[in-house]
Amino acid sequence: MHALLVEDDDRMAHALGTALAQRGHTVRRVGRALDALRHVHEAEFVLLDLGLPDLDGLELLRRLRTVCDAPLIVVTARCEERDIVQGLRAGADDYVVKPFRMAELMARVDSVRRRSAVRSGPTGPSGPTSGGDRIVRSGDVTVDLARRTVTVADSEVRLTRREFDVVAFLAERPDEVHAREEILDRIWGDAFLGVSRSLDVHVAGVRAKTGRPWLVRTVRGFGYQLGAPPAGTGPPGAPAGGPR
Ligand code: CA
Repeated sequence: MHALLVEDDDRMAHALGTALAQRGHTVRRVGRALDALRHVHEAEFVLLDLGLPDLDGLELLRRLRTVCDAPLIVVTARCEERDIVQGLRAGADDYVVKPFRMAELMARVDSVRRRSAVRSGPTGPSGPTSGGDRIVRSGDVTVDLARRTVTVADSEVRLTRREFDVVAFLAERPDEVHAREEILDRIWGDAFLGVSRSLDVHVAGVRAKTGRPWLVRTVRGFGYQLGAPPAGTGPPGAPAGGPR
């Protein structure tokens, strides 16, 4: 499989690159966040160092996760519990603290790849569906994760960047309910700042602009999920009589 190795330390990159190549993976190694964002679309899995010269690794992780859902393991010297929790909440599949045993890291690579293969299996026939081309549909709403567009009944809706981030985050795993803290952490970068109200404001914006209030389903006291249109009813604004 093709690995993206994001690591600015040459010796560490060489050791990791060699171990991955020995296991039959092809590797692109980059040392800067900018290059990671440029090449992540090729990657089938990602190893990410958090201490990079041009951007904080957690911020890079959040940005990678808006465009890529390949398995990702953080490999870092940061070992504080708060760093680990934030890394996992920001979308890492696993977290390995340096120094580590190479055999253990390679076993973890195999493990997250297996889990991700299960996760991307077929979804049920009802509710939102996710295609392999990163297009997610629910009712007459289409979310194009790669092009960052939302269309409702074939017309594009103009969302703000944050509003789209919220929709995209829910659309990436349409069958899961996401905790408020998880969404805040991933999109705003910290669930503990006074940004909690921002999430409600952005959800309200998405519902109003799309005219599809069901698109973001509230799970009281917990969080949000990508919603499906109410059964047996046509979408608001549909021709009289609704779909047959
Ligand atoms: Ca580093």
